[in-house]
Amino acid sequence: MKPVDARAGKVCSNCNYRRQIDNRKHCPSRTCTWWKCLRCGASNDEAGRNSVVDLQGRSKRGA
Ligand SMILES: [Zn+2]
Ligand SMILES: [Zn+2]
Repeated sequence: MKPVDARAGKVCSNCNYRRQIDNRKHCPSRTCTWWKCLRCGASNDEAGRNSVVDLQGRSKRGA
């Protein structure tokens, strides 16, 4: 079982900027749970994963 990041859904796991109420959706999909950080533009998912971190290979937790 993968540990869920305590920051998941609350702050950006890339820059720790708090998720805003008017946070932009990641994409038009209604089922998409990702949200985009207003500060660094990174995409975060509900599990605390982050597109930027993933791209840099630092926060990979396997699939
Ligand atoms: Zn999306
Ligand atoms: Zn950020």
